[in-house]
Amino acid sequence: MIKGTIIKGIGGFYYVKTDEKIYECKARGRFRKEKISPLVGDHVHISVNAVSQQGVIEEILDRKTELIRPPVANVDQAVIVFAIQQPDPKLSLLDRFLVLAENEDLDALICFNKIDLGAQSELKRLKELYEQIGYPVIATSTKAQIGIDVLKARLKDQTTVFAGPSGVGKSSLLNSLQPNLALETGEISQKIERGKHTTRHVELLYLDLGGWVLDTPGFSSLQIDFIEKEDLQYLFKEFNACLHDCKFQPCNHVNEPGCAVKRALEEGVIQQSRYDSYLQLLEEIEQARRY
Ligand code: GDP
Ligand code: ZN
Repeated sequence: MIKGTIIKGIGGFYYVKTDEKIYECKARGRFRKEKISPLVGDHVHISVNAVSQQGVIEEILDRKTELIRPPVANVDQAVIVFAIQQPDPKLSLLDRFLVLAENEDLDALICFNKIDLGAQSELKRLKELYEQIGYPVIATSTKAQIGIDVLKARLKDQTTVFAGPSGVGKSSLLNSLQPNLALETGEISQKIERGKHTTRHVELLYLDLGGWVLDTPGFSSLQIDFIEKEDLQYLFKEFNACLHDCKFQPCNHVNEPGCAVKRALEEGVIQQSRYDSYLQLLEEIEQARRY
């Protein structure tokens, strides 16, 4: 048996990267009976037919995390990319991405890109705001090649999904990481998809420095109404310290007297923009439940 990682799945075949090469594999029928389907990102054991070099997935190892969109197992972290300008960062949207990452149990790293455009004081303010909560913040420019090494150090030996609105520089960042990263993808896809419909499939890209990145941005739907209203509070990291001190349990932290979250807000321990994002997402979840 050989150990490997599924880097792509298409048309019932799985492409498993091992230390030596990529094997085209089928999955054992019993997985279907057990209602488990192999996912990109799964660590697997395969057996290989010595003549045909065809592989069979014999065992799927326990998953650490399981992303739904795109469907990928064992993602460690999300790099949430926003531009410091063009477009201006919208904090309610940034907080939504953070909530989605927390909900999937991913570590989140915030990357402000396009710092060649200036906006130094805004960068400083946002860096302080999010670092205080406990999120690492890095600043990059693909144009001026700033911060790329810092990003690389963060990606080393991790499986990472990039997320963020369009136009902030996610593809440019991927291209800055390693020459030919995207080109290699193109070659593999061409070979696999010959004669088939060219639907987009998520693929793991291997970084020479060690580690993987998804070729598809995460959380593209941005929907949060599948999150239970009572769970939202836990997805705002800095709320956790005071949740037990609210006078009423459960507390929505909206109008309840003796609310510890509102007290922390008044004391400046919780930032207004974060509390506003919480209220907005709470409202959205309540709206969705009403229909
Ligand atoms: P994506 O939609 O997030 O993948 O963003 P892209 O990588 O396609 O970049 C969107 C636009 O921003 C393109 O015109 C890029 O040339 C530009 N861009 C990307 N990174 C930078 C940067 O660091 N500085 C500046 N000024 N522009 C950038
Ligand atoms: Zn409260």
